[in-house]
Amino acid sequence: MLTNDQLSKWDQDHFFHPSTALGAHSRGEAQGMIIKTAEGCHITDRDGNRMLDAFAGLYCVNIGYGRQEVAEAIAEQARELAYYHSYVGNGTEASITLAKMVAERAPEGLNRVFFGQGGSDANETNIKLVWYYNNILGRPQKKKIISRWRGYHGSGLMSGSLTGLSLFHKKFDLPLDTVRHTTAPYYYQREDASQSEAEFSAQCAADLEALIEKEGADTIAAFIAEPVIGTGGIVPPPEGYWEAIQKVLKKHDILLIADEVITGFGRLGTMFGSPKYDMDPDIITIAKGLTSAYAPLSGSIVHDRVFEVLARGTDENGPLGHGWTYSAHPIGAAAGVANLKLLDSLGLVQNAGEVGPYLTEQMRKAFEGHDHVGDIRGVGMMTALELVSDRDTRAGFDPEKKLVPQIAAAMAKRGVIARAMPQADIVGYSPPLCLTREEADTIVGVS
Ligand code: PLP
Repeated sequence: MLTNDQLSKWDQDHFFHPSTALGAHSRGEAQGMIIKTAEGCHITDRDGNRMLDAFAGLYCVNIGYGRQEVAEAIAEQARELAYYHSYVGNGTEASITLAKMVAERAPEGLNRVFFGQGGSDANETNIKLVWYYNNILGRPQKKKIISRWRGYHGSGLMSGSLTGLSLFHKKFDLPLDTVRHTTAPYYYQREDASQSEAEFSAQCAADLEALIEKEGADTIAAFIAEPVIGTGGIVPPPEGYWEAIQKVLKKHDILLIADEVITGFGRLGTMFGSPKYDMDPDIITIAKGLTSAYAPLSGSIVHDRVFEVLARGTDENGPLGHGWTYSAHPIGAAAGVANLKLLDSLGLVQNAGEVGPYLTEQMRKAFEGHDHVGDIRGVGMMTALELVSDRDTRAGFDPEKKLVPQIAAAMAKRGVIARAMPQADIVGYSPPLCLTREEADTIVGVS
């Protein structure tokens, strides 16, 4: 059997990790964990340390780890048919069934699912579809995309441009010049502390409208946003936000892409996040919870009103020149079908809507009034603690001190994995949807 030392050496010498300080890792100064097994909400490393994963991997293992039903479905699919492509109208039993199951669960009118691999490529697809759509409608100048500061939409060329965190732009020559960013609905860090939530939402909508008018509405194709900001700090929208934003979008004939890579499939205590906020998206991005990360699979759920135009486009111009070798991969699709069945049969969406708010509430009881906890917020199975050096000014800590990463590391040593959110003093929690109240208490106790 391989020793840990052997693995660590190979890791340092050969494994080019994503989102990692490469120099420090290859010098052995910033080694991550080497995880061996997992069950329910717990992961175990090669030394036998068992930890409660309060982040579900990367907000993705919605049904929890170790579900044999999904493992069996994957194995059976691999034995029967590991791969066939979905170009030129081909499909498999798993991919066709999953498309139907997703459409049945999606908000009304969203009936067509284009499958990809991960959230980033799904957003690349979305923007290409939006451009194609406007070309078919004879408005080739309507192409710019607006996203929000603090939004996260992936790290491809376009998806990374849409992401509103400078870490993902710096030294990569992003964002691309078709992307604009607008105000984040980050009520806690609003500039004008006297504003109510509703006033702040109205300001966000006014900022968006001012940007649209500056650029010219006839140049703006779509607005992309997460119903609840995830990686940018777990930020639920302030009161009235989505109503005010959608009024502006409708007025200027701008499509809405709801990026539900995190919020899709139960995390907010509802199957999708859009209906929770009365959003009426033209396209929904899905990934993570679609398969609970048992296999890579993503999708773009396209509204009938958009699909009709795209279909007309291919009647006029030949088949859609867009697709991936692994679109609707049968193993991913089989994992997705088994995953969605479990999500239903175990009542996990409902559990997220009950135990998630319990976790946030217990955090409030434990930390409200703490000198250095400025905000405690959450919705469904997403919770955040925002740390401040001064509660009155809401100022953060010196980034050089890496306070939150140190807190997350100390928590991991005590058996709970939380996440230090990038570019902010925020500790994030987004556990599997099967979390129990006892496990929630453990998370609060270790925090
Ligand atoms: N969109 C959102 C809202 C996400 O949270 C993420 C990943 O965290 C992505 C897109 C990108 O997904 P992936 O990492 O699978 O490319």
